[in-house]
Amino acid sequence: MDLTALTIPEIRERLTEREASAEEVVRAHLDRITTRDQEVRAYLSLSPERALEQARKIDRKIAAGGALPPLAGVPVAVKDVILTRGLKTTCASRILESYVAPYDATAVQRLEAAGACIVGKTNCDEFAMGSSTENSGFFPTHNPHDLARVPGGSSGGSGAAVAANLATVALGSDTGGSIRQPAAFCGIVGMMGTYGRVSRYGLVAFASSLDHIGPFGRTVGDVALVLETIAGRDSMDSTSADVPVPDYVAGLDRDVSGLRVGVPKEYLAGLNPEIGDNLQKAIDIFAKLGCKIENISLPHTDYAIACYYIICTAEASSNLARYDGVRYGFRSSEYSDLRDMYRKTRDRGFGAEVKRRIMLGTHVLSSGYYDAYYLKAQKVRTLIARDFIEAFDKVDVIVTPTSPIPPFKLGEKMDDPLEMYLADIYTVTASLAGIPGISVPCGKTKSEPRLPLGMQIFAKHFDEARLLEAAHAFEKAGGFEL
Ligand code: GLN
Repeated sequence: MDLTALTIPEIRERLTEREASAEEVVRAHLDRITTRDQEVRAYLSLSPERALEQARKIDRKIAAGGALPPLAGVPVAVKDVILTRGLKTTCASRILESYVAPYDATAVQRLEAAGACIVGKTNCDEFAMGSSTENSGFFPTHNPHDLARVPGGSSGGSGAAVAANLATVALGSDTGGSIRQPAAFCGIVGMMGTYGRVSRYGLVAFASSLDHIGPFGRTVGDVALVLETIAGRDSMDSTSADVPVPDYVAGLDRDVSGLRVGVPKEYLAGLNPEIGDNLQKAIDIFAKLGCKIENISLPHTDYAIACYYIICTAEASSNLARYDGVRYGFRSSEYSDLRDMYRKTRDRGFGAEVKRRIMLGTHVLSSGYYDAYYLKAQKVRTLIARDFIEAFDKVDVIVTPTSPIPPFKLGEKMDDPLEMYLADIYTVTASLAGIPGISVPCGKTKSEPRLPLGMQIFAKHFDEARLLEAAHAFEKAGGFEL
């Protein structure tokens, strides 16, 4: 019995039937990591003691005949921008190379309270800035479907870990697509809830008005269960929403006939033909399920990339000011005075992409340029959000490709940052609007090696239940294997 290929309900069944112990489930994952992760390189660090201690606690509960919490014995990987008490949290940056978190993020705390076992921290682009995990300050992660290719990013380690059965589910962060795009590249499910749906307490800030924590899994059901566990108001994050969390899992099997599915024309223009074909097949599945397909328009889509890269860099330049060699992590050992210490620490501690964003962000916020760039981008952000609000008067969900291109080769885009930014063209819109988005597998490319493709589904603010219901109907109808 391969314990690493199971879903959350399957793990639960093995535990309650006493066919496997939680310790065996965790050990099976740790064993697989020792071999398979040498080529995938999804993890930056492992936490076997913490995972096994939690597993034994679950096993004692089972032995005593106690009720099992919802995520009992489930191995979870956590992106290394999310704080885990007593474990390193490096943000894949040299500047935090030896930083040990003093507390747990709320999402981590809620997962462990629900019985999950944290097996390790996953690789990502440095401070979550990137779309391929190649900007990690340590090493790149490889796509388990083809090791010569990227797993997407920035949460590429989390995506690759779940796709390669090195964890059952994972946490990632999504600011402009960093959960959805790696989920698409790795052939799994990844979701970002509404802004404020999940507490950001303990998520290292990149762009605070856009940052989210969210789940990865191999099924919609697993993702729904993790989201349900981590969502909800948290007094430690004033932007977390005080909106009740529905039972997402219970709602998954609702009938989708009559659901209005919007297809925005702006996302189809100039589409890669293979991705276009797949999306059409996916739309046909929804039509067969009795959904009403509607053509819609989101007219400000073209401005989303420019708008996103102004706002996120502006916020990043401010958020990253705290890494000064005094308060956290690395400090350069050679310097002449205080200013020189700041300068050398930041020069040696940050990688090229992080520096590029700090400079861009400082520029767009500087006096004389603020109105032309930052303020204008904020206005465009409102227009993009309004496009969605108007569209959701006519439709219940919107479907689009997750990425304009299939997983690309390692190194292919590293010399051209603008090309890399364009990979986010379909994901940044929802981030700017604050609406929820999910990426689900949607077939593969035709030529060998056959690479995963993803479909994205959006819903209106706090309508995660509807979004998950549509994704689940698509999964049940065979959409993942299109
Ligand atoms: N790829 C996007 C960026 O580089 C998104 C990153 C993210 O969502 N964290 O900013």
